[in-house]
Amino acid sequence: MEKWPIGIFTSVGAGLGAGLDTVKSLGVHTVQLHTPHGPDRAPDRVAQFRKQFEDAGVLVTVVFAGFEGESYADIPTVQKTVGLVPADLRAERLEETRAISDFAKAMGCDALGMHIGFVPEDTSDPNYAPVIRAAQEVCDYCKTNGQRFHLETGQEKADVLLSFFNDVGRDNLAINFDPANLILYGTDEPIPALREVGRYVKSVHCKDAKRQAGVGGGWAGVETPLGQGEVNMPLFLQTLKDLGYVGPLTIEREISGEQQKKDIAEAIALLQRLRGEILG
Ligand code: MG
Repeated sequence: MEKWPIGIFTSVGAGLGAGLDTVKSLGVHTVQLHTPHGPDRAPDRVAQFRKQFEDAGVLVTVVFAGFEGESYADIPTVQKTVGLVPADLRAERLEETRAISDFAKAMGCDALGMHIGFVPEDTSDPNYAPVIRAAQEVCDYCKTNGQRFHLETGQEKADVLLSFFNDVGRDNLAINFDPANLILYGTDEPIPALREVGRYVKSVHCKDAKRQAGVGGGWAGVETPLGQGEVNMPLFLQTLKDLGYVGPLTIEREISGEQQKKDIAEAIALLQRLRGEILG
């Protein structure tokens, strides 16, 4: 594969990403795929999806898990509802995670991504050890499917993430680095954080955001079109180069409709220009 192929965060059926038609019309050949719901993971549906992506010449580089009941409405709601951190939902979500890993394998994809939720910063928190065990279980299951497990960044500082990696202790645990999330959640400075955890970064979201007071909901900023926020995309890409990262640059734009498509098209142009300047 070429270095830094452009990608788009997509979905089939229900989901948060752009559709395959958008991907095709923009001439992009890699995607991350937000998992469809259970009925759309039935074998006949998977075969259809796989054929659609293959016919379009589009490689699925990460399948992102998602669960019913997750909400990003505000930060307290994220803490209560997202990923494997909510204790009362963990067992059923682990079971669904295994099914999503199988779906990813059936799609020919070697990485499962997830917002695991807010990992407790205090390792003596009663929920810390169970979350470590849950991550180990996911890693071990993914390994049987020949996959890595990519944690999306944003909800914890780089040093918390590093000690989490140390405690999970699995060689197929990796990071999907989303620089904008660190601004939106107000957790860390994107570029220094990227340098700190860089050795684990196996996929990225090209997403931008700017700090803004008074957004509400505990958010520290707002998402912007790529290049118009405070991530500093040239420095983000230069840092990825310095780290030896050669994987996809996957654009994530968390709005919908025509504006999403327009912003993604502009993001592609920006990334192509920067890729040329930085990789030469
Ligand atoms: Mg993201």
